[in-house]
Amino acid sequence: MTKYADLKLPSQVFQLIDPVFEQAGIQVYLKRDDLIHPAISGNKWRKLKYNLLHALEQKAEALVSFGGAFSNHLYALATVGRLWKIKTIGFVRGDELGPESSATLRHCAREGMELHFISRTAYREKEKSPEFRHFTGLPANTFLIPEGGTNAMALRGVGEMTDEVESAGIQPDIYVVPAGTGGTAAGLLARDRKVLAVAVLKNAGFLQRDIEKWISPQQSERLDLLTDYHFGGYGKHTEELRSFIHRFESAHGILLEQVYTGKMMFALYDLAKRGYFARGTTLLAVHTGGLQGKLEL
Ligand SMILES: *Cc1c(COP(=O)(O)O)cnc(C)c1O
Repeated sequence: MTKYADLKLPSQVFQLIDPVFEQAGIQVYLKRDDLIHPAISGNKWRKLKYNLLHALEQKAEALVSFGGAFSNHLYALATVGRLWKIKTIGFVRGDELGPESSATLRHCAREGMELHFISRTAYREKEKSPEFRHFTGLPANTFLIPEGGTNAMALRGVGEMTDEVESAGIQPDIYVVPAGTGGTAAGLLARDRKVLAVAVLKNAGFLQRDIEKWISPQQSERLDLLTDYHFGGYGKHTEELRSFIHRFESAHGILLEQVYTGKMMFALYDLAKRGYFARGTTLLAVHTGGLQGKLEL
């Protein structure tokens, strides 16, 4: 893969020094997957890697995927398509939308992604329905990646993060990640690591089963899914979250966005303050990227 040179891998990892963590007697490391690439950020690269390799090997005509108007997954996929010279097709939820409806969609269009805007009903059918290909007229040799990019190949790519962390001499007791579809959490669990997953959606108890689908019962026991740090739901934020993000950014010089990484980091600080972690615990928080979707808060 010639274009690997464009990606900063392995991503940086370093200890996050903070009085809150010192007082709690824990060590927190931060894995800067946000620095892998400005557009193919964080976990989206890890999740796309083996899908891309597989599609190239099969000489697929196009990579096809799904998402909403603010999908970091489609954003990353569009740039992957341009860099690796493979056509990309994105099905976007909402037939009232167009390529100008969001900065994400404008980026996708600029990168050459073919965009289709489909009704919410058709979207729900999407890759689950055998009629989908027929309905959309997709050629047989297109490579379908599910919404959010989570599949077995994605899990394998995510799992490689543990190799990078551990060859840097860090042995985390717990990996901390935000969870949207839960694919990132599942990839780490599939490598037998303990994972604290911070759900960014409301009523995200269903993620437990979604994640368990990918892993063994023993691996499931290593999952700690937190569903109380959604701040109102997906994409929602409150004054408390905004001011936390500002304080973190000025203390550490590292940006967080409001959809995923801000909520994960808020949870980590909150739990540390409450004495949730045994003293002596080593945690590895993953900065999963997404900064292109950061709002001025
Ligand atoms: C997509 C995304 C996630 C969620 O990852 P899942 O594997 O779907 O749980 C987390 N953080 C960022 C920045 C993302 O773009």
